[in-house]
Amino acid sequence: MASAALVTASAAQQDAADRQRMVQEIDAMLPLAAGTSGVARLSPRVGAAMTEVPRHEFVPLEYRSAAYRNRPLPIGHGQTISQPVIVALMTELLQLAKTDKVLEVGTGSGYQAAILSVLTREVYTIEIVPELGKMARANLERLGYGNVSMKIGDGYEGWSEHAPFDAIIVTAAPNHVPPPLIAQLKSGGRMVIPVGDFVQQLMVLVKHADGTATTTIIVPVRFVPLIRE
Ligand code: SAM
Repeated sequence: MASAALVTASAAQQDAADRQRMVQEIDAMLPLAAGTSGVARLSPRVGAAMTEVPRHEFVPLEYRSAAYRNRPLPIGHGQTISQPVIVALMTELLQLAKTDKVLEVGTGSGYQAAILSVLTREVYTIEIVPELGKMARANLERLGYGNVSMKIGDGYEGWSEHAPFDAIIVTAAPNHVPPPLIAQLKSGGRMVIPVGDFVQQLMVLVKHADGTATTTIIVPVRFVPLIRE
């Protein structure tokens, strides 16, 4: 028993060291990945969240040894957990406050939702593939991310019962910004979203008090398409 406990402890130490190295790599890559955004460094808050959240718990067993490489990985059903540097960039672009209520479209593994959970008050996340949604919910519950609510459905429509949101992050690419998501964003709120069919651009949308919005193109990206029900 004692030796099994030692093996578990040293595996946890190894995971923590690998995570630390991944965060250093993200920090070094961020100026290149950040396009026009001006994000030059990982902020201490986002860096701490990415150092804390155990990415290996969100990937299928066969990919665990690659969990702390800076790359997307398959999670089944033709979907992926996003590349860590892109998770970092999108999270930085949201400019989250601890008091924020955030909507994520595209739960996937639940990893991005866990990062949001550490940084904000309340997280709502929507996944269209039921099997992924169930897996993500199980991951988030097992790891104790209690401020995350998850539902299975079409995130294009948002989650009106919990709107308005301070911030919205979309992790699959529609070919236009879904109007229901703009409607569910607070005045002054920010949305980070990849938009496009073949060529996609990561955009930041800021909603103004009069209901209009300004979008800024940040960098070309490659996401799975947003599926419609
Ligand atoms: N954020 C995820 C994570 O941390 O693992 C990665 C997201 S993966 C790149 C995109 C996800 O969006 C997939 O799980 C896909 O099934 C989901 N998706 C696609 N269209 C959707 C829609 N209309 N509503 C909700 N989720 C959708």
